[in-house]
Amino acid sequence: MNSEQQHRPIPYGRQHITDDDIAAVVETLQSDFLTQGPKVFEFEQAFAEYVGAKYAVACSNGTAALHLCTMALGVNKESRVLTTPITFVASANCVRYCGGTVEFTDIDPKTALLDINKVRQKLESKTKGYYSGIIPVDFAGNPVNLEEYRQLADEHGLWIIEDACHAPGGYFTDSKGEKQMCGNGRYADLAIFSFHPVKHIATGEGGMVTTNDEKLYQELLKLRTHGITRDPNLMEENHGGWYMEMQELGYNYRIPDMLCALGISQLQRAEAGLARRKGIAKVYDNAFENYNGITVLGTSPEALDAEGTGHAYHLYVIQVADRIGLYDYLRRHNIFAQVHYIPAHLMPYYRNLGYKQGDYPEAEAYYAGCLSLPMYPSLTQEEQEFVIEKVKEFVG
Ligand SMILES: *Cc1c(COP(=O)(O)O)cnc(C)c1O
Repeated sequence: MNSEQQHRPIPYGRQHITDDDIAAVVETLQSDFLTQGPKVFEFEQAFAEYVGAKYAVACSNGTAALHLCTMALGVNKESRVLTTPITFVASANCVRYCGGTVEFTDIDPKTALLDINKVRQKLESKTKGYYSGIIPVDFAGNPVNLEEYRQLADEHGLWIIEDACHAPGGYFTDSKGEKQMCGNGRYADLAIFSFHPVKHIATGEGGMVTTNDEKLYQELLKLRTHGITRDPNLMEENHGGWYMEMQELGYNYRIPDMLCALGISQLQRAEAGLARRKGIAKVYDNAFENYNGITVLGTSPEALDAEGTGHAYHLYVIQVADRIGLYDYLRRHNIFAQVHYIPAHLMPYYRNLGYKQGDYPEAEAYYAGCLSLPMYPSLTQEEQEFVIEKVKEFVG
């Protein structure tokens, strides 16, 4: 593409909808169920199988998935939970919904993932029982080494929620050489995903919790529907066929059947989409690695194996000195790069809870230079070349 030519806007991420996806939604619209019907369970089963977990619970969005998790784990106003400031705010907010305290911990600058050594230091500085849980995030699609987190969590009696929104299809290799898929429930108690349009699998709004724990699974199902159960085995009383029981305070976090039909259809192309993302990352890597003035965000070594990379590439992040300059320059050329993320502790809401500039120097330094370049399966080779050309033109 000649750089002077007009081209359509290039966002940092976007959904990919095919005729098959549309047909699947239309078919469900013509069926008996608009809200929860057979497609919900079908999507849950297909998704659980995809990530290698025993159970999956679909819900209205990724934020609801997080809230279901903190409720199921019994987070309350006594709970203190550790998470990263470099994430979407929902990873932290889910603790606040239950009245708990969020304690951010700084990142590892090489990967922008929560720094396990800093988490360990925090845990060791307090008595056992002070903290309740950890919410690590597979940021950008780079899988967290959950085996290490599990060891640490077990030493201190903590639960783990893996925020895997960026990493469906991602994996790391554990100390036994086994491939561990993000969200497979092997090490984390619960994992969550989002089906927001910029994520790998899009349903518009949508989310999923995965787990290998049957008790948590039953609890999630109940909390998703008002705290109501219809299972006679779980009820305290039974007045007849109509009877259902509200046993605790839950919510309506259900996802409609037609969105699950879209999810099922999208999931069938998940591997192809992931392969395309990895291909795009390779092209960026070749263009920017060792390029003066550009730092490519690193991949954790456990995510790399002989087969390639377990990085799921929701985002492709570079760091530059003049980030606002590059951001504006790209916008002028119709390239809508984005910043992930404004550190959560610098948001006014968290500042009002006592956080301030300077609390997490690595996160703040990362934020000062980071920029997410366009990364989605339908990005064309031509468009990507144009992006690379413009980035290099600006950085010089
Ligand atoms: C998208 C996202 C969420 C929230 O998902 P929604 O479906 O938008 O509610 C939570 N955490 C992370 C890391 C995300 O990227």
